[in-house]
Amino acid sequence: MASVTGLTHKFTSLDISKSNEPVAKLPTKFAAPNVPRPKVTSKPTVPVGYSKLGSKASSSSLKTQGTSKLIYDSAKTEKSKPPNPAHKRSESVDIGSYDGGLDSDTHEHVSSEDAPDLALDSSTLSTPTRTWSLHDFDVGRPLGKGKYGRVYMVRTKAPPRYILALKTLYKAELVKDCNERQLRREIEIQMHLRHPNVLRLYGYFHDSQRVFLMLEFAGQGELYRQLLKQGRFTPRRSASYAYQVADALSYLHSKSCIHRDIKPENILIGLNGELKIADFGWSVHAPGDRRKTLCGTPDYLPPEMVLRKEHGKFVDHWALGVLTYEFLHGSPPFEDKNRQNSMRKIARVEFKFPNTFEEDAKDLIGKLLRFEPEERLPLTEVMVHPWIVKYRNKN
Ligand code: AMP
Repeated sequence: MASVTGLTHKFTSLDISKSNEPVAKLPTKFAAPNVPRPKVTSKPTVPVGYSKLGSKASSSSLKTQGTSKLIYDSAKTEKSKPPNPAHKRSESVDIGSYDGGLDSDTHEHVSSEDAPDLALDSSTLSTPTRTWSLHDFDVGRPLGKGKYGRVYMVRTKAPPRYILALKTLYKAELVKDCNERQLRREIEIQMHLRHPNVLRLYGYFHDSQRVFLMLEFAGQGELYRQLLKQGRFTPRRSASYAYQVADALSYLHSKSCIHRDIKPENILIGLNGELKIADFGWSVHAPGDRRKTLCGTPDYLPPEMVLRKEHGKFVDHWALGVLTYEFLHGSPPFEDKNRQNSMRKIARVEFKFPNTFEEDAKDLIGKLLRFEPEERLPLTEVMVHPWIVKYRNKN
C-alpha cells in the first residue's frame, strides 16, 4: 500500500466462474457483502481475534476461538439464507469509538461533474450491488490512515450487520494525483477477485467529496507491523505465509492480473491469521506511516524493472523470493542504504544467505531470485516445494 501500484489486467478474462479457487458469492446480486457470521463467546468486547498465525484460511465462517475472538474468512459464504442470528452476535462486537473524522469538511469540493470517473456507486459498474451510503453504517474506530483518507471499522445498520473496513478517499486528492481513472479501473478488477488470501472489495459509493470502499475487515492489521514487531518470523510461519502468497498470486495470474507491488506493506492479516493481499493500486500510504527507507525503495524490484526492460507476471515470483527472505531474516536481500547500490545488486542478483537459513529454504528462494524471469520457479511448484511441504505437514 506504500505506492500506487500497477495491476495489469484483461477484463475479459476476469471470469470468476471458471476459477478453481473457493469463490465467495454475494448472497444476491443486490445484497450486502458476505455475511461474516460472527460468534462471540462470553465477554463480547474484542473485535480482533489473535489466533494461531500462519495457518491457511480454510473456512469462511466467523468461528469462536478462545474468548471474545472472531475468525472471519471470505472464502465461502452461505448463499441466499435468510437473516440469521449472526446479526445478534455482530451487534455485540465492539467496533470501537468513532472519532468524528468522517464528519469534518476540510477538503476541497470536487463534484462528479468535474471528475466523472469518481461518480462511483456499486450500481454503476458491471457487477451491480445495492446502492450504499454512509448512513447505512455505524462507524467505529479508525483503523488507519492512508494518503487519500482514513479507514474505519464499520458495521452495517441493517441485519445481518456485517463488519467491514470502510476506506475513504478524498476526491480532491485523487484528482490532484490524476488517479481517478486508475481508481475506477482497479475497483472494477478488485470487485471480481475472490480468493481467501486476497482482500475482498464488497462495494463502493461516493458523496460529494469522497469515495468509500467497503473492504473486508482484516482484523490483525498489517503484516509489515507484525514483522517490525517480531524482527523476523519463524521458518514455519514464513513457509506458511510464502504458501499463501504463492496461492494468491497463482490465482491473480490465472485472472491475468499481475500485482507488481508485493511487499509486507501491501499485505494485511485476517482475523484467522491468514494473509490478505491488498492494495490493487489506489492506496498510497502517508509518508512516515511506513519504514523510513521506504520512499522509493527498490528492495522488491526485479532486475528487469531495475534495468527498465519489459516485465510480466514473473515480477511477482521475484517479489515472493524477496518476501520469503525478508520473513526469515527481517530485512530484504538487496537492501542497501544507497539506492544505486541496491539497484546494482539487484541487477547482478548479488545477495548472500544468512547462516541461519535452512538448505531447502535457500533452494526455494534461490529458485525464485533468478535473473531470467522465465527461469523463476512456477507458483504451483512453490506451493509443493519441500521446504513449504515440510512445515505444512507439521501442523
Ligand atoms: P490504506 O489507506 O489502505 O493505506 O490503509 C491505511 C491503514 O488502514 C492501513 O495501514 C491499515 O492499518 C488499515 N487498513 C486498511 N485497510 C484495512 C482493512 N481492510 N482492514 C483492517 N485495517 C485496514
